[in-house]
Amino acid sequence: MTEGDDILARRKAMVAEIEAEVAGTRRWLGKRKLDPRVIAAITRVPRHLFVPVANRGHAYENRPQPIGHGQTISQPYMVAIMTDLAEIQPGERVLEIGTGCGYQTAVLAELGAQVYSIEVVGELAGPAAVRLRDLGYANAEVKCGDGARGWAEHAPFDAIIVTAAAWQRVPPALIAQLAPGGRLVIPVDRSVKAARYPFFDQDQELMVISKDEEGRIAERDVLPVAFVPLVEGGPETAA
Ligand code: SAH
Repeated sequence: MTEGDDILARRKAMVAEIEAEVAGTRRWLGKRKLDPRVIAAITRVPRHLFVPVANRGHAYENRPQPIGHGQTISQPYMVAIMTDLAEIQPGERVLEIGTGCGYQTAVLAELGAQVYSIEVVGELAGPAAVRLRDLGYANAEVKCGDGARGWAEHAPFDAIIVTAAAWQRVPPALIAQLAPGGRLVIPVDRSVKAARYPFFDQDQELMVISKDEEGRIAERDVLPVAFVPLVEGGPETAA
């Protein structure tokens, strides 16, 4: 077996684990299977190229991994369900908040969306932008800044995915920048106290907020989750 075959086999095994976990959490998700386009996108993205070289052997395990700077690459199951909940169609404009290593960004780009992604840690945003460019994702743009403010220049967005937990409320700028018919997928931390490292025991819920054609907002809770906190109120920096 060549290394390429081995990597593809591991990726397919990871996808099978995601599918099993989706079936096991069907009561929360309201479905037994994800959109086949989401599964196909995850089967294409070379996740091993998004983790630090020392962790590559673990890249296809269905769990989050450290990527440095106190941050993580999200669990594959979580990337899969958040992408599914966002109901991305080809050609849609999508805002992602919390680029990290750029893995979720790549999955969104594989779905044919035009992706705008914001990362607050400059040491992660720069390498993620280079990685996505080198892998040929011309439809993904990354900038460094506070994503809680959205990205007004490219708004409105058909979908917004936030991969860090907002404390107590959904940032108002994100609801404002959602297009009519748009979906916002975001973990919200309802704990009385804001998260402090190492972020255990927070009461976080993954939410989907949708805006109808008349601009009315509907929201629903999906399932309990554990994300790093969304850092709000930092300086706005250039790309
Ligand atoms: N999407 C990533 C997950 C990264 S973890 C993946 O595919 O694995 C969440 C990221 O959110 C971290 O890199 C963190 O630095 C970033 N983050 C936290 N607060 C932020 C903010 N206000 N704006 C943009 N990024 C933020």
